[in-house]
Amino acid sequence: MSKIKPTHIPMNQFPTIDGELYIGDIPITQLAARVGQTPFYAYDRKVIKEKVQLLRDTLPKEIHLHYAIKANPMPAIVQYMSTLVDGFDLASAGEMKIALDTEMPRQHISFAGPGKTDKELTQAIAAEIIINMESQNEMERISNIAEKLGLTPKVAIRVNPDFELKASGMKMSGGPKQFGIDAEHVPKTLKRLTELNLAFHGFHIFSGSQNLNADSIIDAHNKTFELAYRLTEHAPTHPKLLNIGGGLGIPYFPGDTKIDLQPIAKNLKNILPSVKKNLPTTEIVMELGRYLVGEAGVYVCKIIDRKESRDETFLITDGGLHHHLAASGNFGQVIRKNYPVKMGRIRNEQTETVNIVGPLCTPLDILANKMELPEAEIGDLVIVFQSGAYGYTASPEKFLSHPNTIEVLV
Ligand SMILES: *Cc1c(COP(=O)(O)O)cnc(C)c1O
Repeated sequence: MSKIKPTHIPMNQFPTIDGELYIGDIPITQLAARVGQTPFYAYDRKVIKEKVQLLRDTLPKEIHLHYAIKANPMPAIVQYMSTLVDGFDLASAGEMKIALDTEMPRQHISFAGPGKTDKELTQAIAAEIIINMESQNEMERISNIAEKLGLTPKVAIRVNPDFELKASGMKMSGGPKQFGIDAEHVPKTLKRLTELNLAFHGFHIFSGSQNLNADSIIDAHNKTFELAYRLTEHAPTHPKLLNIGGGLGIPYFPGDTKIDLQPIAKNLKNILPSVKKNLPTTEIVMELGRYLVGEAGVYVCKIIDRKESRDETFLITDGGLHHHLAASGNFGQVIRKNYPVKMGRIRNEQTETVNIVGPLCTPLDILANKMELPEAEIGDLVIVFQSGAYGYTASPEKFLSHPNTIEVLV
């Protein structure tokens, strides 16, 4: 008996009409002509908007939604997002520049990250955004800089919780971590914060990324609120803000399924009465990157060559890991798995098993390993789905000195 091989779920956020893929209602070959080059990234604003709407429709209205810019800092996306979400979370002064160029109100922008320089802290204090402090030292530096500027910055404490997000693609909490202040040291940090005359704004408790398991998220939410209640007992004032993190993942690999928002929303509804009792004046924020933009993006490249080697077929494209490290399997994957990949246009009924590789002189430059795909020819477009988050921004574009790619929002 042969085991059933797991498959990718259908990528039905984009329609295929007469065998051709459409992005933003434009046939992909026409879009390529419009962009003027391959490879390129295309992001569909309608898909982004629907994602935000789904969250708004499903989660309790008390949950505010923030966009974590590091998932995709393209200025046009951040600008568009400023009309859809309630706030931004940043992780660098570069991202701060992009965020401040939008109309997003300053009091809804917060800045986290473990290695903020004095220059970045100065900029953030001057911009009057919220700073999520990652260490005691950082707090002392913020206080010194604020004194020189004559400003009172709003500070939140990023907490390294005493639990971890189970079944998560990327764990960022629990145990020893470079992120946040260990939960057990938060009481003394709060005491020092009061001495330093900083404005206590709240807590930021982010426990992980790329999670497809609703039960794990529910467990993390429950523990996050419990921890926030405990820490609030040591705070000079009630927190104005509690950022409960995000962690919602998207399906990338064969066998992955979409995360079910319903039980997560139900659990939040159930615990809201106790949240309102314990934190009556606190705004609750969920910060999401990947979930908002990941499925809205594709990476498009062109087949440059085709060759056989020892019974395997290789399609060689003009795109690869220099633009899309994650699809090559080199960004956090332990065992390489294929992203969903399709041909831009289906020529006929025939399929073949192919390896799709990029132009770089390294065996790591793989976009698809032994995938069954419609027969393709030199010049055809290859589409890598789920590429809206941690794509171009997380790639080593200088490696091998090939031309840069282009990003469009359609
Ligand atoms: C990376 C990051 C996020 C976004 O994570 P996603 O998995 O893209 O949703 C949110 N908050 C913090 C603090 C982060 O570092």
